[in-house]
Amino acid sequence: MEQTFIMIKPDGVQRGLVGEIIGRFEKKGFSLKGLKLITVERLFAERHYADLSAKPFFNGLVEYIISGPVVAMVWEGKNVVTTGRKIIGATNPADSAPGTIRGDYAIDIGRNVIHGSDSVESARKEIALWFPEGPVSWSSSLHPWIYE
Ligand code: UDP
Ligand code: MG
Repeated sequence: MEQTFIMIKPDGVQRGLVGEIIGRFEKKGFSLKGLKLITVERLFAERHYADLSAKPFFNGLVEYIISGPVVAMVWEGKNVVTTGRKIIGATNPADSAPGTIRGDYAIDIGRNVIHGSDSVESARKEIALWFPEGPVSWSSSLHPWIYE
């Protein structure tokens, strides 16, 4: 089954949005396969966002991600990468639809509350980076009530 990496950024943690955000993924029917609250170091944040290292906002983005603890998660389910991005909403909260996490809880692009992998391949890399111990292996007894 497909997995994605979701991270609640420092602003989401500081603003008390952890429960609300986890609830949205849980209520959708996805399964939580990894969860930790951690503060990451600069080099680690730079590795996570390595693809964006040439962008003008890169340094500010790294400062933002290391500014406080983040909640790192692995979520699993059919199409969870694409659907996770839809639940999160557009990168710039000015364009995120109401009903999405960024649409409901954010205003500025540099304080957009949450990260989600943009492809199955990025998810694989990000899960390996953030969860070198591997996700937790368990199967939900709700499975037949969510999948036909
Ligand atoms: N970002 C920013 N300014 C920009 C574009 C992106 O501060 O002009 C930040 C924003 O927090 C975004 C992150 O960099 O979530 C990663 O950018 P990406 O294009 O990967 O967006 P995402 O995948 O998070 O929607
Ligand atoms: Mg991205």
